Amino acid sequence: MDNQSALQLLKAHKIRPTYQRMRILNVLRASSDHPTAETLYLRLKAEIPALSRSTVYNTLLTLVEAGLARIIHIEENSTRFDGITEEHGHFQCLGCGKIENIAIDMDRLTQGQLAGCQLLERHVSIRGLCRQCLAGTSTSEEDS
Ligand SMILES: [Zn+2]
Ligand SMILES: [Zn+2]
Repeated sequence: MDNQSALQLLKAHKIRPTYQRMRILNVLRASSDHPTAETLYLRLKAEIPALSRSTVYNTLLTLVEAGLARIIHIEENSTRFDGITEEHGHFQCLGCGKIENIAIDMDRLTQGQLAGCQLLERHVSIRGLCRQCLAGTSTSEEDS
C-alpha cells in the first residue's frame, strides 16, 4: 500500500490522518510476521526519530478498533498485531517462533453445535513445530 492509500484508509475510518499513523498502518500492512508494538516501533524509529512507543501502541489499538488491524491471540505474554483483517487462523512454531497465516473455513467450524449462539470473536490458533524445524534446517532468525 502506498502512503496515499494509507491516508485515504485512515480518513475513511474517521481516524485523523497524521504522518505517524499513516506510516504505522503502512508498515503493519507490509509486515507478514505479526509484529508486536515494540517490533513496529523498532522498524519505524530510524525513519521517524520523534516516534514514541506509546504512539505506536495507541495507534495500533485505534486501528484495531476501526477494523483496520487485528490483535492475534496466540501468546500469553505479548500482544501481536495483524495487518490482515480477513478472518484466518494462525500456526505458531514453538521451535523458531514464526507465526504463519492459515486459511480456515470459520463458518464451517462454528455451525452445528454453536447454531443459535451469538459469536463475538472467532480465533483459531495452532501451535507446533514447522517443517523446517522438524528437518533441523530452521534458520531461527526470530529476534524474540
Ligand atoms: Zn519452526
Ligand atoms: Zn495473521
